[in-house]
Amino acid sequence: MAVTHNLGFPRIGGKRELKFAEEAYWKGESSADELLSKGAALRRQNWRSQSQLDYVPVGDFSFYDHVLDMSFMLGNVPERVAGLDGDRLDNSFRVARGRSAGDDDRNAVRAGEMTKWFDTNYHYIVPEVSADTRFALDAGELLARIDEARAEGVTPKPVLVGPVTYLWLAKAGDGSDRLALLERLLPVYRELLDALGEKGVEWVQVDEPVLVHDLDDDWKRALRTAYDALSGVAPKLLVTSYFGQLRDNIDLACGLPVAGLHVDAVKARDEVEAIVAALPADKVLSLGVIDGRNVWKADLAGLLDWLEPLADKLGECLWLAPSCSLLHVPVDLNSEKKMDPEIKSWLAFALQKLGEIEVLAKALNEGRDAVAQPLARNAEAIASRRASARVDDPGVKQAVHAITPDMGKRRSPYAERAAKQHAHLTLPAYPTTTIGSFPQTKEIRKARLAHKKGDLSRAEYVTRMQAEIERSIREQEALGLDVLVHGEPERNDMVEYFGEQLEGYVFSQHGWVQSFGSRCVKPPILFGDIKRPYPMTVAWIKYAQSLTDKPVKGMLTGPVTMLNWSFVRDDQSRSESCKQLALAIREEVLDLEAAGVDVIQIDEAALREGLPLRRSQWQDYLDWAVECFRITANGVRDETQIHTHMCYSEFNDIIESIAHMDADVITIETSRSNMELLDVFDRFQYPNEIGPGVYDIHSPNIPPRDQVITLMTKAAERIPAERLWVNPDCGLKTRNWDEVVPALENMVEAARDLRRRAA
Ligand code: GLN
Ligand code: ZN
Repeated sequence: MAVTHNLGFPRIGGKRELKFAEEAYWKGESSADELLSKGAALRRQNWRSQSQLDYVPVGDFSFYDHVLDMSFMLGNVPERVAGLDGDRLDNSFRVARGRSAGDDDRNAVRAGEMTKWFDTNYHYIVPEVSADTRFALDAGELLARIDEARAEGVTPKPVLVGPVTYLWLAKAGDGSDRLALLERLLPVYRELLDALGEKGVEWVQVDEPVLVHDLDDDWKRALRTAYDALSGVAPKLLVTSYFGQLRDNIDLACGLPVAGLHVDAVKARDEVEAIVAALPADKVLSLGVIDGRNVWKADLAGLLDWLEPLADKLGECLWLAPSCSLLHVPVDLNSEKKMDPEIKSWLAFALQKLGEIEVLAKALNEGRDAVAQPLARNAEAIASRRASARVDDPGVKQAVHAITPDMGKRRSPYAERAAKQHAHLTLPAYPTTTIGSFPQTKEIRKARLAHKKGDLSRAEYVTRMQAEIERSIREQEALGLDVLVHGEPERNDMVEYFGEQLEGYVFSQHGWVQSFGSRCVKPPILFGDIKRPYPMTVAWIKYAQSLTDKPVKGMLTGPVTMLNWSFVRDDQSRSESCKQLALAIREEVLDLEAAGVDVIQIDEAALREGLPLRRSQWQDYLDWAVECFRITANGVRDETQIHTHMCYSEFNDIIESIAHMDADVITIETSRSNMELLDVFDRFQYPNEIGPGVYDIHSPNIPPRDQVITLMTKAAERIPAERLWVNPDCGLKTRNWDEVVPALENMVEAARDLRRRAA
């Protein structure tokens, strides 16, 4: 009998209920009790919708981030929040965001560092450790949730971040060896597992996605040490790996003294045979056969052809699951009322994916006849997608084929271009700019919603957005910024906005996926060959430029970010889809230039997150990703200044490729990591201009002028001052004007001060 389970369920709610509940709490519009009961209601609902599974995850829910929750459960709470008012929830919000509900400045603290969860667009709060870190178990919340789950009639399988992955994700502020903490950490995990055992928990899921990384001997040894130390606890442990292949870690993973192993049978299907051979016969093998990272229906008949012989061989020891937590896909396809029905028939969101697991298990346990109808419907959908004329466009394929190396080259080297650009733009030293968006106010969102619903005419919508653009321009002029932006009021999201206008994309109404905390994104779905039927941004930028004599930046999302933040086709290579996007956005760049826009920013916020987890595959990715950016950007005249922007990224290991993009100016995130990023410039002379973000836009805290000066002075030690820009570290859309204005005032003041000092 194949057993079914799930690794994690989206916690944000099908209608983003959690987001709205916590934002109301943060604004002081609702009480902690209201937030807590909303969370409990969501958990109940999630368990009910997973009740057909044999084991259901518990502990996957979080009010902000499950890695942060793990830090609290392990008693690894930053000292700066200890002793502040409020409870654990408030303190976890302070670590995550810099403040909780109702905090005055006294209780505001530095927000924890946030970074991407493996190669996904989910961000976790980096655990802070040092040589002095001590752990102490605080498992009350998890234990209570087990009771909650049982009350819903499901069999709970608690989910933990495994000890080795926890340390892998942690950052030692003092530069000490994280692994040295393992010895102190393991007794706390043991205590936790014992407590779960006492609660009668049968299986615990221990996530160790580090297993899909290149691991050196120390980390490999740490995994063995950890699970040796945890063997003998009462609950059975299911160690899970996901997001890639195990490769040289197969033997290590199969040899751990635990009761079961989960592998990503989407990304690593070709390894399953070797894993079956290496895994002792009494161990459970959980196959993640349904893609937890994408939205396409699985080919169930094809999977059954593969799984049936495995089921015969493994019997009770075969478990079926999604490849990873379903955190990375939207909740329910059935909420989509407006989606093109043909394309919708090709898709599966979290609930539908669990349905697929159920059908597969039933087919294996009772024979295909027992699920003849769902199998037939599935086969029909798979065949319809393969045959659809809407997927392939020979003209687009031909254009990609005709790309020449020259299309990715600027006419002159940077130094020559820079001279022309500087003569043309006449900017001061330490020029100031912002990253693109200004606050997305309630009025903006209301107008967009009304327009979408048909209650606001296109003309009226345009008028309102133009008023917002005017406001942004006037504010920027008053602040004295040098290169202005239009503020992006017309954009719901930097990827969706373009996806909606390109052919080959569909978008959902409720396809939200959590990015961090209450922030969600609604990735468009790239289903077919990409074409740009008309200019997407030109009218807005032209309007903004008509209001001011200062240069206004054209603002685009780059092809790599479009790709990495979309759900993309699984029937052609990512690089092929990316080249199609590059050609489409290149057309937009050239149209902007023709419209007289002198500065064009092409955001590649997500370039780094597309890096494969394995080093050996990096160069191949970087080569085509950078080439796609170059195709997009480099068709312009020397006088046109190309900017790019990247956020939440570490560049130390890819700086050569970043430089090879050959953008005239790059703006980057650095403020949260105290300009640590700049260390790379000790080793590598970045050849073009750069704006290291000096203001952490993810926190409501206002950066003091002196902090900006200190950060820029640090930057100037590594990069010639004449190539430095002063800017926030990302767009300002999540902030409000009351925060943005004083912050930018300080930033502009600081730039003036730097100029005076340099003069
Ligand atoms: N131009 C975008 C903005 O300012 C960039 C956002 C991002 O990098 N994530 O909102
Ligand atoms: Zn950014």
